[in-house]
Amino acid sequence: MVINTAQDNVTTIDRDSAQLIYKNIFGSMLGTLLAASILVFGFSSEQQYESKLVWLGLSFIVIFVRSCDTFYWYQNLRGKEYNAKLALQRIFAGYIMTAIIWSLYPILFFESLSEIEFASLMAVLLALAGGTTTLLSSFRYASLIFIVTTLLPVCVMALSSGIENRFYLGMMGLIFAGVMSLAGLRAARVTRETMRLKVENIDLIAKMRDEMSQIDEVHDELSEAYSKLNESNSSLEREVERRTERIRQLSNLDPLTGLYNRAAFVQQLKLTAFNSTKRDHSLALLFIDLNGFKNINDTLGHKVGDAVLIEIANRLGDFANDYSAGRWGGDEFLMLLPYAQQESAISVAQAVQSRIAQPLDIMSNQLHLSASIGIAMYPEHTKDEFELIQLADFAMFEQKRLHETDPKMFSQDLYQNLKDLEDLRSGLQQAIAKKQLHLCYQPIMCFETNKPWSYEALLRWNFNGKPIGPDVFIPLAEQSGFIHEIGAWVLNRACIDASQWRHSQDACVSVNVSIIQLLADNFIGTLDKAIKTSGLAAERLHVEITESMFADNKAKVRAQLNAIKARNVQVSIDDFGTGYSSLSQLQTLNFDTIKIDRSFVSNISKGGEAIIRATLFIAKEFGCKTVAEGIENDYEAKVLSEMGVDYLQGFLFAKPMVNDDISGWLDSLEK
Ligand code: C2E
Ligand code: MG
Ligand code: MG
Repeated sequence: MVINTAQDNVTTIDRDSAQLIYKNIFGSMLGTLLAASILVFGFSSEQQYESKLVWLGLSFIVIFVRSCDTFYWYQNLRGKEYNAKLALQRIFAGYIMTAIIWSLYPILFFESLSEIEFASLMAVLLALAGGTTTLLSSFRYASLIFIVTTLLPVCVMALSSGIENRFYLGMMGLIFAGVMSLAGLRAARVTRETMRLKVENIDLIAKMRDEMSQIDEVHDELSEAYSKLNESNSSLEREVERRTERIRQLSNLDPLTGLYNRAAFVQQLKLTAFNSTKRDHSLALLFIDLNGFKNINDTLGHKVGDAVLIEIANRLGDFANDYSAGRWGGDEFLMLLPYAQQESAISVAQAVQSRIAQPLDIMSNQLHLSASIGIAMYPEHTKDEFELIQLADFAMFEQKRLHETDPKMFSQDLYQNLKDLEDLRSGLQQAIAKKQLHLCYQPIMCFETNKPWSYEALLRWNFNGKPIGPDVFIPLAEQSGFIHEIGAWVLNRACIDASQWRHSQDACVSVNVSIIQLLADNFIGTLDKAIKTSGLAAERLHVEITESMFADNKAKVRAQLNAIKARNVQVSIDDFGTGYSSLSQLQTLNFDTIKIDRSFVSNISKGGEAIIRATLFIAKEFGCKTVAEGIENDYEAKVLSEMGVDYLQGFLFAKPMVNDDISGWLDSLEK
């Protein structure tokens, strides 16, 4: 849109003024000619007749010139862009010439005019001035100049003529001239203002039209876009539906196995529990934990680990639909069994266990896994969904802890056990911090000399005034990770005590070392430190490692035993015969002594003898010494020594005693 400037507006107003005048000018020129002709011919007298004719001729010429100009405007300029200022100047010139012609009439013929002729002249001039004021209303000073030029000379002459009638007419003419001049100026202002408003209005209308057309354009564009939007809307809706479904899957499913993730499973559990309550049915929740998965992950890598998890998830699919199995995290899975009773839940859990136990063929690896499964019932055990998962987890943990093979159903007893265990765990933690654990020593006797060959350090703990057996708290310490701190303390304490034994300077000290402790990277460092701090001769130290633990991580066990032996520390295999170690496996391990388990000793007359003889044979083959544990009577001592056992340990000789009591016990031995 083109916006008019102020200058444009002035030009337009000038053009409008010119048009206003040109359109009415013919009438005024005709009137002027008529008036001039009447004055010359109507009042013709002999006097100055020719001069008047000349005057009339001049008037005609002026009117002719002005008519030509007007005609030119009509022909060439009207309705076009032209220089309006020039046109106005031409109009002004025409009027001034007309005014001058008319002013000449009284100047030239004043004396010869009869009174009636003078009055008529005054009437013509006044009418001329009045008409022109109206006609030139848009032309600010033109009417003023015209009035002054036409009326002033005649009025001045009339006033100064001394003729009474003419004086009054002159006076009237002056007043009329003044009034007309003011009216002309006022009319000019109003007319030009009106014209300006008109131009501005036209501008505004143009602007409005422009804006309207812009709005129309925008409207058109909008309706086009709207229809396009409508077109694509339906396909978009389908796309949104597709993506919503994808987002639902991504946010609900475990990306690896495609089973429900934690949050989605809990949601599903809530829904199923709600439906079970409504239909008055029970519901079983299985908490499934893989045994040995960590080992696969650590040894064969995460790719194999991932493939195993996917395969296990597939196997769970044999027992569950898409909505009833989930991955709780790591190697833990959950399964929902709606409508299940305890018996049926156990049966399904057993079937799941067997399915998981089937060999896995993953990336050319034949793998074997097992699963521990805990079961909790809704609403029997709890009505809270989160607690239901927790209780099933407790049951699973209990199965694992007790090394049971069958899935474990949650029970209040189990809960109490776990609670007691938890109390015990926190009690143990405090006891460690407050250094409330202490060692007892049980001698291992040399049959021939009847003197202690070694003293076995056995850990003791009193909790709430009651002694808790190491069989109970050591596994707890292993599970809770306290074993490293406890083990290091035991090793250190035993070495210091032994180094200070004045009564048994040649006797050894046997320290039980848990497999977890043995496999820790810093174990050898702990051992070195204990030897160094105590100043004990390394060969006086024995570490006892339970045979049943050798199955795990054979290579590391072998390396650690070698490192121990490299320091001249001796190694005993504890509880020998209980761990089903193969002879080929034992052959690769570096040890000095075999301790025959108490169970064979106490069953010596009921078949234990054969096992003891076999053990003695193996020990001989391996070139190591033997110790028999748990000897409680002379018969056992006699039989075992006759069979060739090197050392004997048991209540028959001494119960475990505190360090301070050893010398007293030794004294009693000599008596
Ligand atoms: P262990 O190393 O086989 O220790 C021998 C266990 O047999 C001791 O039980 C001892 O008191 C008991 N005993 C010895 N002679 C007889 C007997 O004639 N009759 C009977 N009935 N029992 C006898 P304790 O002290 O309860 O220790 C049990 C197990 O706890 C130990 O078996 C050992 O494996 C473990 N243990 C004890 N102290 C420690 C320790 O400081 N560290 C680690 N890792 N394990 C320890
Ligand atoms: Mg032992
Ligand atoms: Mg033992």
